[in-house]
Amino acid sequence: MELMYLSAQAKAEGGCQVRLMDCIAEDISPEEALKQAGRYDPDMVVAIMAIEFFDNDVEFMARLKRELPGALVGTFGHLPSSFSQECLQATGTDFVLVGEPDSSFRMALRRLMNDQPPEGEGVAVMKEDGRFIPADYQRIESLDELPFADQAAIDHSRYGEPFFGHPYTTFQSSRGCPFPCVYCVRTYGRKFVKASAEHVVSEVKSAVEGSGIRYFRFMDDTFTASRKRTLEICAGLRDISSGITWSCLTRPNTIDGEVAAALRDAGCRRIYVGIESGSQKVIDYLNRGYRLDVVMDNLREVRQSGLEMVGWFIVGSPVEERADFEQSIALAKRLKLEFIAVSTLVPYPNTELFAREKDNIVFSLLPYTCEFRNQAGTGREAEFYRRYYLNPAYIARKIGSLTRHPGESIRASREFLRYAVASRRDNHRKDLL
Ligand code: SF4
Repeated sequence: MELMYLSAQAKAEGGCQVRLMDCIAEDISPEEALKQAGRYDPDMVVAIMAIEFFDNDVEFMARLKRELPGALVGTFGHLPSSFSQECLQATGTDFVLVGEPDSSFRMALRRLMNDQPPEGEGVAVMKEDGRFIPADYQRIESLDELPFADQAAIDHSRYGEPFFGHPYTTFQSSRGCPFPCVYCVRTYGRKFVKASAEHVVSEVKSAVEGSGIRYFRFMDDTFTASRKRTLEICAGLRDISSGITWSCLTRPNTIDGEVAAALRDAGCRRIYVGIESGSQKVIDYLNRGYRLDVVMDNLREVRQSGLEMVGWFIVGSPVEERADFEQSIALAKRLKLEFIAVSTLVPYPNTELFAREKDNIVFSLLPYTCEFRNQAGTGREAEFYRRYYLNPAYIARKIGSLTRHPGESIRASREFLRYAVASRRDNHRKDLL
């Protein structure tokens, strides 16, 4: 998604030709990616480096730089931003876009057009004499200043989520998250920077009309962080709601019955809620910033709105005991979630959790390792899934929906199987759910 926004900028800046290559979605091997990049003979290559694939990405970027010596090669992402010097040294690439890549990318592009190497204003570089020039973390002031994401740059049939159809895409209507969770890498930091409701609605309508988009997800860390703006966006999307189906990410204290109804009436079918735990002790350890007994009313109202709820849970916090884990499973069952996504707590570098637990963490950047020395609750992820999905009440609900809506259920199951097979091939991509 970030690359679609950068692609739009590159096209806007003097009409650059852009090839956006999503090797995971397009199922392109590293060898093939290098071949295609060579054939394209680019002046500049910019890649996002993911935490989960960091070792592979370092190796790939080093090869890419060696095989395209004439191209300026840069990276961005949480680890390149946090460890710019180490990334530049390990990959031999030319620059890192530190923090939010948009304005620094634009500047690097302008300098390239003027035959100047990128440097400064959010661009960290390693000089030929081996000097490292760091850069400050960049944030832009308003997403309204960005062009719409370049929808023409991707094949929309290669993206999706369970039970949604195609053409599918993603949008980002805000960046940053103001909430205090200590484990979160907050891709864009804590400052919440948003696009206006008018801009968001125009971007969606433009993708619907221009690229035939019917299904999408807002990838904002917390789409509902601003209640007023959420309601405005929903009002703006209502007139096309019958032609679109979408989802968004939220947290239990930023949604209630009124917001849920507005989302539903605007075409939203599914919300992904960061519930994380059914234990107040764990919620406090993670510094989620609310009381479970208070947000339970919100979640009950959302449940009644008819929106599908996918609950995200975290297991394996150092403070999590068996009783806390049991409370999480009980909460998931009580909320009758359509799906769950469970992950084990990771103390990512450059988070408050990492600083707090540093004596209890094994960390190395190269090769990349980041985990608790004594990880609590090993095996709880699998146990959570097993006990939730094999629970008779869940199975009965699914059989009930099959009986009530056979057509949709069969279509959805076919879609789910197709999705599950694809996800198995990409077994690292938990983000797909
Ligand atoms: S609400 Fe979500 S995105 Fe925001 S800080 Fe917490 S975990 Fe991060």
